[in-house]
Amino acid sequence: MLCVYCNDGSGKKYPECSNEGELDTESWLRVLAILRRETDVLIITGGEPTMRQDLRQILEGCQALGYHKVCLLTNGLTLDRHPAIFELCDILMISLDTLDGEKADWMMGRGKGILRHILDNIELACRERSRHKFKLYFNVVITPENIDDVHQVIDYALEHRIGFVPLPEVVGVYPREALKGNLDYQALIDRILTIKRAGGDVMGTMAYLGGIRHFAAYHCLPTLLARVWPNGDLLYPCQKLHKIGGNLLEIGDYAKAIDQGRASHGPLPNCDNRCHVGCYMDFSVCVQQPGFIMKEALRSLRKPFFRPKEFIRG
Ligand code: SF4
Repeated sequence: MLCVYCNDGSGKKYPECSNEGELDTESWLRVLAILRRETDVLIITGGEPTMRQDLRQILEGCQALGYHKVCLLTNGLTLDRHPAIFELCDILMISLDTLDGEKADWMMGRGKGILRHILDNIELACRERSRHKFKLYFNVVITPENIDDVHQVIDYALEHRIGFVPLPEVVGVYPREALKGNLDYQALIDRILTIKRAGGDVMGTMAYLGGIRHFAAYHCLPTLLARVWPNGDLLYPCQKLHKIGGNLLEIGDYAKAIDQGRASHGPLPNCDNRCHVGCYMDFSVCVQQPGFIMKEALRSLRKPFFRPKEFIRG
């Protein structure tokens, strides 16, 4: 697919990116083993991870390596052809930005009728989760064009007891201009905050959600999140600046690849107000203000008492 807002972090659309040097199964398993020495949480994303023919072997490899939480982010289009995802992932995140078929065709840059197929696969995932116990989330990108659609996606999520993670559209590194000060956008974030406060399954801390409402400045600590390119290159300091620390397969060690990145590109930058995306903003804010993590833990105690239907728009 070719989602209108999606790019590799430097503005390049994925079909324009070369897949030269993309690692084979065995090499990926070696990279995953190197990363496992540093973390037990993994997010598999793309591009589109279901394009890999060896997805099952990679997911089985993650399990064998003892990853505690494996999250896979997909467009959902071919889920019915990948039962391994249901069997082996802990968190399945499906991109869904609208329930309007025509708008989905436009936003996802594909032929007609794509949404029906994705919704069928979401229903399949809902059935499979009671068997395989993974958590299901929608990854929802908010653009100035789909604010009302996102309300509908939230209603659908609440109705089907699916969690969601809201992300404002970012162009390059800055939020889309038309979202700043946009009252409809702010009302949407307020609704999400209300759902979260009541115990709804919204991924992202209150600090992050409050931060994306006003696009508040934060101090970014980008290396809290290791990003690895399909050829095994570790990005330093982040995906957004598109610089390479070193190739994990060649260097064989995460810390050494970071050291190499620091030697080549200098210390972490002091960026201006940008990159309001959960993976950078949320981690950075939480590490610097650990009280937010405590509050999240307390808030999660409310989850069993959350009644989603009360928050569906009339
Ligand atoms: S704010 Fe963080 S993620 Fe964005 S460019 Fe700067 S270091 Fe990278």
